Amino acid sequence: MNLESANKTIEKVVSALENTHSFEGNLRVGIDLGTAYIVLVVIDETDEPVAVEMEFAKVLKDGLVVDYTGACQIVKRLKQKLEARLNVELVKASIAVPPGTGHQDTNTHRYVVESAGFEVTAVVDEPTAANAVMNLKDGVIVDVGGGTTGLSILKDGEVIYTADEATGGTHVTLVLSGHYHISFDEAEDLKKDISKQREVVHAVRPVFEKMAAIVKKHIEGYEIEEICLVGGTCLLPDVELIFEKATGIKTYKPEQPLLVTPLGIALFCEK
Ligand code: ATP
Repeated sequence: MNLESANKTIEKVVSALENTHSFEGNLRVGIDLGTAYIVLVVIDETDEPVAVEMEFAKVLKDGLVVDYTGACQIVKRLKQKLEARLNVELVKASIAVPPGTGHQDTNTHRYVVESAGFEVTAVVDEPTAANAVMNLKDGVIVDVGGGTTGLSILKDGEVIYTADEATGGTHVTLVLSGHYHISFDEAEDLKKDISKQREVVHAVRPVFEKMAAIVKKHIEGYEIEEICLVGGTCLLPDVELIFEKATGIKTYKPEQPLLVTPLGIALFCEK
């Protein structure tokens, strides 16, 4: 895969948080209902990121909606903000769920998005969405989000296996909260404080080693040459080195791993 080209694409989506880019043709939206963030990414007919809105939210747990009304309100609010920025009504959307999510929980995601006035044209699993951006041909893409860690194994560009486990950034924050005897919210702030992140990673190293062991278990029996990490939790420094050491497989991440999956979700939306 071409990491440089993926980094350039991701840079554009990050810049679309602050800047509204000019666009061609019809717009479509990728909606990531996450355990930590709800993100809406708008792309145009040429797949270029146009505008992004996101909000920190506690309306999902382990990838599943636990506060339906709250989730609906946030999606509606973010849609309105985007429409005000773009002066266009946004209708077509795609959504993602963790691999292995049942029919009923998938429908709950769909109803949240439809309640805001979107038409859902595609449902994809999260790591597969991420790979639409990373374009890994052979290897594993691991999406370490807030509540869940999903993985997709790729062979010749095709997804041949997916899995999901209930661990991620929330687990990291809980361990930090216990380690430093501080509240969850204080631990969440500490985790994102760039000047403290090396110390943080040292304190939660066993959590990442456990995540890597989980990935190793899932990829047993497959010939894997590389692991690509995405998801907000991979913003912590050197997590790729912990995975590499624990699995013995070359591991890397893009420069900005947070918005990879939301952008990938948008790419699956019908034009
Ligand atoms: P899930 O995929 O599990 O439903 P999500 O979609 O909300 O969750 P992401 O948006 O990929 O997941 O990542 C959210 C996680 O990233 C949270 O645990 C958050 O604390 C963490 N995170 C966000 N920014 C940073 C940062 N700068 N440093 C460290 N961790 C961060």
